Formats: sequence, C-alpha cells, structure tokens
Amino acid sequence: MTATLIKGAEVAAQIREELKQEIADLKTKYNIIPGLATVLVGADPASQVYVGQKEKTCKELGMYSERYDIPADSKQEDVVALVEKLNKNPKIHGILCQLPLPKHLNEEDLIYHIDPNKDVDGLHPVNQGKLMIGEANFIPCTPRGIQQLLIRSNTQIEGADVVVIGRSNLVGKPILNILLQKAPGANATVTLCHTKTKDLAFYTKHADIIIAAAGKPKTVTGDMVKDGCTIIDVGVNEVGKTAEGKRILVGDVDFETVKEKARAITPVPGGVGPMTITMLMMNTIKAAKLAAGIK
Ligand code: NAP
Repeated sequence: MTATLIKGAEVAAQIREELKQEIADLKTKYNIIPGLATVLVGADPASQVYVGQKEKTCKELGMYSERYDIPADSKQEDVVALVEKLNKNPKIHGILCQLPLPKHLNEEDLIYHIDPNKDVDGLHPVNQGKLMIGEANFIPCTPRGIQQLLIRSNTQIEGADVVVIGRSNLVGKPILNILLQKAPGANATVTLCHTKTKDLAFYTKHADIIIAAAGKPKTVTGDMVKDGCTIIDVGVNEVGKTAEGKRILVGDVDFETVKEKARAITPVPGGVGPMTITMLMMNTIKAAKLAAGIK
C-alpha cells in the first residue's frame, strides 16, 4: 500500500473559498468586516513570516487587519496595555499574540488578558475549559485544522482508536479534547502519549489514527504503525538549509517507511501548516458574528 497524501494546502484553499463567501455575506447583509489584530514582539524571522502570512490571508479574504510590531525589549505591562486597548477596539474581533514571546515576558499572563471573546487562538483558560466540557467557543487553530483534515479526507473518526503524541496546550491537549467529544467529527477513543510513556510503539501499533505533535523527527517510524492507519504529522523540524539558504523542514514521522503502510498521511510541509491560518480566519469570522449577536 502507498499512502494517499492529505494535502492541507488544497483543503485550506477549498475552505478559504467558503470563507470568502461568508465574509462577503457579512458585509452586504450586516455591514460587518471581520477584523484581526496581530501582535509581534521582537523580530524573530520565523514569527515575522507567520504574521506576514496572517495579514496577507486577511487581505485575500476581504477581512480587516491591524499589525502591531513592537520592540523585543517591551515590558510586560506595555504588551498587556496594547492587548487591553485592542480588547476595546470595535473594529477588532480577534487578537493574535504571536508566540513564542521573548523569554522575559510571561505568555500565560498575556493570554489571560485577551478578552475570551476575541481569543481567536483559543488559548485563554476560559476557551480551553469550554472545549474540555464540550461547549467550545474558540478552538485552537492547529487542532481545529487537524479535525477538518480528518473529516475532509473521509477518515473514520467515530469509534476510531486515536493516538496523540505530545501534550502541549497548543496542540496535544486540545486535539484530545476535540476528538473525544460526543459529537460529529469526534467520538473517538483517544490515548495521549508523551516523553514518559513507557512504550510508545505499543500504542501507535494499535492506532487507527496517529497524530504526531512531538517536535522530533522520526518519532514515528514504519515499524511502529499498523497497515491502513491514517497519520497526521504536525511536527515542523528544521534539519538543515539548502545551498540557497532555504530551511529544510521535516515532520515527526519518517515519511519514507510509514508511507508503505498507512492509508493516508499529511506531508510536511503542505499538510497541517496551511490549515492553521485558515482556522484562524474561521475563528475571527466567528468572533465577528458573536460580537454582533449573529448565529
Ligand atoms: P511542545 O510544546 O514542545 O510539546 C511537545 C510534546 O511532545 C511534549 O508534550 C513532549 O512530551 C512530547 N514529546 C516530545 N518528544 C517525544 C517523544 N519522543 N515521545 C513522546 N512524546 C514526545 O510542542 P508543540 O507546540 O505541541 O508542537 C509540536 C510540533 O508541532 C512542533 O514541531 C511544532 O513546530 C509543530 N507545530 C506545527 C504547527 C503547524 O501549524 N504546522 C502548529 C503548532 C505546532 P513532554 O510533555 O513529556 O515533554
């Protein structure tokens, strides 16, 4: 068997077309333009690229955006003050603070100051808690994109044995909470593994779906998976640079050995990555509707 590629870029493009229509409708029917503010502290090159992509996507979809690039040595109270100003800005429906922040700043504290109704990254404790009890408001973008990839690639989720590798608040824990809900596109039996898991291969060998979010190349190899499984490779690991200085990226899964056994797999790059920004746009539209009381 050679695995089918789950091409996130194509799925994301399809969803963006749907969103364009929704945004146009919001404008004509209600005179609402969903607005996203991005906050970038410092000038980390990768973060600059990510923020630039978010701004560009807003423009492409017909959304409003404001970008705040502030110095790397900004004080916690200055960044918090900016977030609180954005909380009050009616043109802004979603606030995204690009992570990671410089080391001297406190990420948890900053996230806590974002209005939960503008927390389009879904990282505020209120939104993480709501997701856990099955009353999700904003779902973090990468795990939301993973669920969409599974649904739109016709993967059987209900009743499936899912193994998630990684327990971060950004990816691992929310995808666990999404897929175990008693809801469409979920209802799976989910096992969450981490570095203290005694025998990772024991779990992955039994999994119908593996979601690898460890941030380590070759965490999953061909001998660790069963025939016909579906694999979502979330990892983005830089393993070198091309002669032209371009970053060489690989996922957490050893694509070459796994592709002979899996039913379907996401490539890296071009798998989960393109979905993340699209889900951010989806969340921002939702925030705009919530603010206007539109169902
Ligand atoms: P993280 O905060 O570093 O968490 C990594 C998790 O993986 C931890 O829970 C860690 O366990 C676990 N882990 C590491 N090595 C392991 C191993 N060998 N076996 C089992 N568990 C292991 O990372 P993250 O923010 O969740 O991101 C994970 C990866 O996804 C990174 O490569 C990141 O770049 C990528 N990512 C991609 C996107 C995208 O849009 N494509 C978005 C977000 C993240 P412990 O808790 O025990 O340390």
